[in-house]
Amino acid sequence: MKKIFLIVFVLGISWAGIAQTTLIHAGRLIDVKNMKVLTQQTIKVEGTTILAVASGFQAPKEGEKLIDLSRATVMPGLMDMHVHIEQQTSPTRYADGFRDNEADVAYKALPYAQVTLMAGFTTVRDMGGTGVNIALRNAINAGLVVGPRIYTAGKSIAPTGGHADPTNGVKRELMGDPGPEQGVINGPYDARKAVRQAVKYGSDVIKVTATGGVLSVARDGSAPQFQQDELEAVVETAKDFGMHVAAHAHGDGGMKRAVKAGIHSIEHGTLMTEGTMDEMIAAGTWLVPTVTAGMSAAEYAKIPGYYPPVVRDKAMRIGAQIQQTFATAYKKGVKIAFGTDAGVFPHGDNYREFIYMTEVGMPNLEAIQAATLNAALLMGIEDKLGTLEGGKLADIIAVKGNPDQDIQAMKEVIFVMKEGKIFKQ
Ligand SMILES: [Zn+2]
Repeated sequence: MKKIFLIVFVLGISWAGIAQTTLIHAGRLIDVKNMKVLTQQTIKVEGTTILAVASGFQAPKEGEKLIDLSRATVMPGLMDMHVHIEQQTSPTRYADGFRDNEADVAYKALPYAQVTLMAGFTTVRDMGGTGVNIALRNAINAGLVVGPRIYTAGKSIAPTGGHADPTNGVKRELMGDPGPEQGVINGPYDARKAVRQAVKYGSDVIKVTATGGVLSVARDGSAPQFQQDELEAVVETAKDFGMHVAAHAHGDGGMKRAVKAGIHSIEHGTLMTEGTMDEMIAAGTWLVPTVTAGMSAAEYAKIPGYYPPVVRDKAMRIGAQIQQTFATAYKKGVKIAFGTDAGVFPHGDNYREFIYMTEVGMPNLEAIQAATLNAALLMGIEDKLGTLEGGKLADIIAVKGNPDQDIQAMKEVIFVMKEGKIFKQ
């Protein structure tokens, strides 16, 4: 017995000895909790964790490594609450869906994941793909490939013919009749099955398409898609597994149903009325604005042949309204967490959302708070991520300029650390 204790003791000591201690000198450090820019700070990182943040530039002791970011602005790793890591916009995207096998999708997703991390996004929420996103999350967590920490919905849940029915626009003999296993539901029993199936496949969060969508080959982009009992069955079943439900929604009617059903976040929110904003404030529902998605879809729609005609018309009509809705929701006090819909535009350009948010009145520091602390709060992981404080995971990034004064600085990420490991310097 004594011998075993001794071995454990010795191993404990040597393990502690291996963990590298690193000091980061931050010229400016964004304190997203107190909404202040601190100067000349030292962040002490050991292994995967931040030990402490202290004022002044502390000199490294023997064996400690120093990272000099004394001329940069340091902040927590950014968090994008709405990406589609498996796909990226392209004029051949719809045809690719018929050609690409799962392995093709996976290989294509690798550079998307990598470029996202290099853009300073250390955590993302994947709001729906084929399910390859689950395997990608696992591979990143295992350190096999490079990418952000992924929380994934796996495959979105939609009704037959709705946004995220994977067989929309396909000729009949290929259509089949997808069911809850493929995330297509009709009625509350199907809804329960689809949520449980998502849990079984390994999803972290449930995503429903509460209204039509802009980029699906389906006629309507904004009408409600689910009956109230279907949405309620999704939310109740997800709750049993401790999971949040995120609802894609452009039209107001579908949003109202989703908020009433107890959804955790509304994604996009394009045609949201002020009445729905009030209901969201009362219920504590988050808005993930994805302004970049609306703006870029409207841009691509101007390129002849880029989208199928049914998509082009919706993108032109619905797209650009999203920025003004965000501005109104922000001013009214709806809780906002940063999300872009990356994949609808090229991965790695996620910073564009900061520009659109601040353009219509959100202060620069609040936009950064939305992409750090608020995102962590939305996911309920604020004990681990979202701020630079002792005890949290060492997700730390730096940009060249001063984003408090010029938000364009968010484009120039010069340093990325995820869980204590440096990916860009
Ligand atoms: Zn999306």
